[in-house]
Amino acid sequence: MKIAVDIDGVLADQVGAALKVIENEYGHKYCKNDINRAHWTFEGRELWSEIGRLLADPEYTLGLPLIEGSQRGIKQLTGHEVFVVTARRQNAEGATKQWLNVHFPCLKDYYRARTGTKHKIPSDILVDDLDLNIVEFVKSHPERRGILFMHPWSINGTDIADYSAQVYYCPEWESVIGAIKDIDRAG
Ligand SMILES: [Mg+2]
Repeated sequence: MKIAVDIDGVLADQVGAALKVIENEYGHKYCKNDINRAHWTFEGRELWSEIGRLLADPEYTLGLPLIEGSQRGIKQLTGHEVFVVTARRQNAEGATKQWLNVHFPCLKDYYRARTGTKHKIPSDILVDDLDLNIVEFVKSHPERRGILFMHPWSINGTDIADYSAQVYYCPEWESVIGAIKDIDRAG
């Protein structure tokens, strides 16, 4: 099967890293549970614009920590066609590819797609941490399956519940692997 995997929130612990910088730069301490939606703001600042700014710095991007279990998970997917799809901007692409090469050398193919347009990438499965991406993906074809990697910001008032036959909710990598095995068996 073709499996598209998001980077931030699925392979890289982007929010964890950004919250550390926010604490150092602005002196505000937040935890992941505070980030209860995709467009979360603090003191009038949008978290995702802060992340965009941080990603423009190759040192930050190269130093991003991993989501627990992601390396082991990706290794378990050999036999499938696995590739990366990310909404990161072009200015982060060089450092992102270097980071992937260090931590996930088997992930060669790389697609950029803005949030809400990831369904345009040819794939059978999308693993992503935002409901907005999963809904558009499964909506675009009845055979497609979406795996929502659950974080406190993953649910954003979409109609994802209407697609329950196509969607798996997975809080960690072990259950992502379980879901993919399930999809493989059913197919
Ligand atoms: Mg993401």
